[in-house]
Amino acid sequence: MDASQIFPVPCLTDNFAWVFENARKEAFVVDPGESAPLEEHLAQRGAKLTHILITHYHFDHVGGAAELSEKTGARIWAPREAVQPLHKTLEGGKTEDVGSLSMQVIDTPGHAMHHVSLYFPALEALFCGDVLFALGCGKLFDGSAEEMWRSLTRLRALPPETKVCCGHDYTAGNLRFVRSLKGFSEAGERVVKALEQARAHTPDNQAAGLPTRLKDEICANPFLLASDETFLRANDISHPAGAKAFQELRKRKDLF
Ligand SMILES: [Zn+2]
Repeated sequence: MDASQIFPVPCLTDNFAWVFENARKEAFVVDPGESAPLEEHLAQRGAKLTHILITHYHFDHVGGAAELSEKTGARIWAPREAVQPLHKTLEGGKTEDVGSLSMQVIDTPGHAMHHVSLYFPALEALFCGDVLFALGCGKLFDGSAEEMWRSLTRLRALPPETKVCCGHDYTAGNLRFVRSLKGFSEAGERVVKALEQARAHTPDNQAAGLPTRLKDEICANPFLLASDETFLRANDISHPAGAKAFQELRKRKDLF
């Protein structure tokens, strides 16, 4: 492993781009919603951007890609039709070398039709765009509940220590929704409390408490608990565990 730190860089209103570097000060960015904050970050670090990685085509994830690429010469890798210019198309199920780092591309549709999540085993880090958030998940814009549930279960199968580097700071709202639900395990309650404390004295959009760990999401993220019969019963959800229960939870959050 030659990358030591992963930095969230706030973009636009409530987006995070994520930047990491290798020992040679080559930098990689995921989902630059705008160019300026990333240029500033790179200048501060004295790092040279080589790759711009994109999870999906929504403007707040690609808005800064072309400008950053033009200014730095970095190559843009993205799912098909996500952005212009596009130097390499990312496809689910493939493994790519990003500099000296191996990256697994995971197909995660549901929020957007062509949405990939990017997993780096050497960093123990997952960049999941708008699929999985701290205690939340993305809205179903271009996909079905079945697709999103399948995507979430794919991410849930990654190693428990995985850092979940999500695309937005929706944590405050997600915490409120979580507090309206019952039936969390003791471990889940501890995760929720820790995240509340991490954010208690920090303004939103400062990435307090992020990235979360996958093992914490597995016990405290209500959407990942859609397969947990005890949790469903505690919240009067009679839909079958899995995609149907997930759909009901997503609907409740949309109306919350
Ligand atoms: Zn999106």
